[in-house]
Amino acid sequence: MEFKQGDWIRIEKKGAVFEGQVMPSMEEYITIKMKSGYNAGFSMNSVQITLLESKEKNANRSIKGCEECKKTREKLPWPEKKLHKVAILSTGGTIASKIDYRTGAVTSQFTADDILAAIPELREIADFKGKVISSILSENMNSESWQNLAHVVVEEIHTGADGVIITHGTDTMMYTAAALSFMIETPVPIVLVGSQRSADRPSSDNSMNAICAALVAISDIAEVSVVMHGTTSDDFCEIHRGTKVRKMHSSRRDAFKSINSLPIGVVDYNTREIKTFIDYTKRGEKPLKFKPGMEPKCALVKFIPGADPAVLNFYIENGYKGLVLEGTGLGHVSTTWIPLIRKATYAKIPVVITSQCLSGRICDRVYDTGYDMIKAGAIEGEDTLPETSLVKLMWVLGQTNDFDKVVSMLREDISGEITESTQK
Ligand code: GLU
Repeated sequence: MEFKQGDWIRIEKKGAVFEGQVMPSMEEYITIKMKSGYNAGFSMNSVQITLLESKEKNANRSIKGCEECKKTREKLPWPEKKLHKVAILSTGGTIASKIDYRTGAVTSQFTADDILAAIPELREIADFKGKVISSILSENMNSESWQNLAHVVVEEIHTGADGVIITHGTDTMMYTAAALSFMIETPVPIVLVGSQRSADRPSSDNSMNAICAALVAISDIAEVSVVMHGTTSDDFCEIHRGTKVRKMHSSRRDAFKSINSLPIGVVDYNTREIKTFIDYTKRGEKPLKFKPGMEPKCALVKFIPGADPAVLNFYIENGYKGLVLEGTGLGHVSTTWIPLIRKATYAKIPVVITSQCLSGRICDRVYDTGYDMIKAGAIEGEDTLPETSLVKLMWVLGQTNDFDKVVSMLREDISGEITESTQK
C-alpha cells in the first residue's frame, strides 16, 4: 500500500478502526495523529491500512517586502458551493507549526491548505480559500507586516469574502489585531486565531480554536476579533475585541483575556452556538473603509521606580514621533520625568499615559504628579491597553501631521479601545 507522511488513512487492527494522519514513522512501524489529537503507533505487519485522502503538497511561499506581497493578492476563484466564503490567511506562528524532526524544534511551516487538510471539519462550516502571507513567528512582525496583511484582507473582502480568518503567532497577536482594527472598518468578520501548543501535541488547541474562528467568520460579528480557548478545557472559545485583548499567560491555552471589557461573546465548541455579551458592529452595518497609514517611529516606555529620565530624552533626540508611557497605578511617573514630558510635547511629540496595572482607567487628576503630567501636555489613555495605545498612536500619526488633530483623535474612541465605563 502506497502512502506518505500527511496522508489521511484508516488502520484496522483486530476489529478496531483508527483514522488519522500519517506522522513521521520508523521502518516497520506507522504513527498516526488522530482527530482527538492523540498519536497512535502500530506495527505494520499486524494491521490493514486503507488510504482515505492523500496530502496535497503546498509550496512554502514565504512573502517578504511589497513586490512579493503583491503576488499574494492574485485573485483565486472561489469554490462552487453555497456556503459562506471565508479567506484563510496564514502568517505563521504555532498554529502553522510542526516539529522539524531533524532539529527537534518547532518551525512555522504549515500552509493555510495544510490547516484545512489537518482539520477537515472546517470544510463543513464554510468554503475556504487559503493564502500564505508569510511563514514567520509573530515576534518578527512590524508595522509594515500589519500593513501588508491589511492590504490582503481588504482585497479579500473586495473580491467577495464573507469573512476572513488570519492564522497568527500568539505572542504579538494583540498588536496585529489592534492595527487591523484601526486600519480597516469592516462589513464582515475579521478573525485572528492562533494556538498555544503545536499540532503534534495531544493537548494542541489548534483545531478547536480554528473551528471556533470559522464559526465567528461566518457570524454577524463584523469586527476584528481574536478567537482563542476560553478555559483550559475544550468547552468554549472567547471572542475578544481586537483592541481590548491581551495575551496574559505564556503557555496556558486560555492565555487570551479581554481587559477592561467583557469579551464580545463565546463560541460553544460542542453546540457550535455563539452567545454575545456586549454590543458589537453587525455584518453589513458599515461599508468597507481602509486607512492603512502607520508611523513606525513610536515607542512604548515602561516607567519603573528610579528610572533615569534620560530614557525619554533618547527618544526625543532620536526623531521619535510619539510616545506611550506605561505609568504606575492611575497613570504616574516620577516627578523627575515631568520636564521631559514637557520637552516632548513642546516638540509636538504626543505623550500618552497608560497604566501598567492594565485593568482599570487612567486618572491623572488625583495626585500631584498626575496633575503635573497633564499640565506638561500628557494625554490620558483612559482604559486603553498600553499595546493598543501604541498601535493607535502609530496609526493616528499615519493619518495626520496636525498636532491638535492628533491629540483629539487620541482622546476619541476610534475602534472600541476606550470604553465609557470600565467593565470587568
Ligand atoms: N513566538 C511565536 C509566535 O508568536 C510562537 C508562539 C505562538 O504562536 O503561540 O509566533
